[in-house]
Amino acid sequence: MARPLRADIDLDALRHNYRLARDLAPDSRSVAVLKADAYGHGLVACARALEGLAPAFAVACLEEAETLREAGIGAPIVLLEGIFESQELARVEALGLWMAVHSDWQLDALLAWRPTRPIPVWLKVDSGMHRLGFPPERAEAAWRRLRAAPDYACDLHLMSHFATADAVDSGYFHRQSALLAELAGRLGAPTCLANSPATLAWPEAHGAWNRPGVMLYGSDPLEHANAASRRLAPVMTLRSEIIAVRELEEGEPVGYGGRWTAPRPSRVGIVACGYGDGYDRHAADGTPVLVDGRRTAIAGKVSMDMLIVDLTALPEAGIGSEVVLWGRGSGGETLSVDEVARHCDTISYTLLTGVLPRVPRRYHGAEPE
Ligand SMILES: *Cc1c(COP(=O)(O)O)cnc(C)c1O
Repeated sequence: MARPLRADIDLDALRHNYRLARDLAPDSRSVAVLKADAYGHGLVACARALEGLAPAFAVACLEEAETLREAGIGAPIVLLEGIFESQELARVEALGLWMAVHSDWQLDALLAWRPTRPIPVWLKVDSGMHRLGFPPERAEAAWRRLRAAPDYACDLHLMSHFATADAVDSGYFHRQSALLAELAGRLGAPTCLANSPATLAWPEAHGAWNRPGVMLYGSDPLEHANAASRRLAPVMTLRSEIIAVRELEEGEPVGYGGRWTAPRPSRVGIVACGYGDGYDRHAADGTPVLVDGRRTAIAGKVSMDMLIVDLTALPEAGIGSEVVLWGRGSGGETLSVDEVARHCDTISYTLLTGVLPRVPRRYHGAEPE
């Protein structure tokens, strides 16, 4: 039998989550963010599942956009960071892409370029994230330069990114939001501001466009879940099986360094999944897993190809039992990737994008092709 580890991708859940993002913002259009191989779920398969539902897709670089075009995806695609060198403009034009403009050199390159058809531009302003974008006091001049250029004036939007839209303490979010409302009002600019947390929690941030990413994959980015985020459905299930069982006497150590020792006579199961598959090696003892739909926990350090779980309270579990590292068990029980991430001192984004190519993806639901 083949190694039992796989990532099952539920494309119907992806569509459900997209519809939720759309329905939360009825006056906006929502671009589906598909960067980083659709957060580890498979760029082309996810784009195909959302075609006809999402009016546009967003990626981080030209190479990702090219992969989509080569797969026959015709919908608009936005480059969230724009170009990385001016030579890329020819490809942007040839592929019919939209682009963010966050820097003077990008703006200069764009205005020096004479495209044969207009290119929609999202002018990025730094309203407080302090990562990319024009400082607010220079955004107006950049906006006016683009407004004066017929090739870019037609479909110009003001874009910005929130640093804390997920947080319960909303002070900084409101500071960014107020700055953007004033700037957009003064310029008469349609906006594109909301990431997943702002889509879920802050209707006032919804603009002409929103940019939901991680919520499409069923992860709840909010520090405290709300009624909307509770309706998200997991898209990826990372699934394996117990491949061996050990009976241990009290006090026996388990795995590298013996980090976990049996607190009583114990039974542990060896799972075919390790950090060589992208499972986080920082997973602490107690990180939850589902075995045959029942919750138990990791015992000892994750190794490259395997990890170990405590089966003492699950006497009926044994070799061949289903193990869900996150996602939905075959009986319908769920284990959220967000909960696993907390035990690994990280966020769902790194776990999902971290699933390595060794793990086969299996697609279910809306036909990818
Ligand atoms: C990745 C990204 C998003 C999506 O963020 P989520 O938190 O995954 O919703 C939105 N906007 C920009 C500019 C991004 O880079």
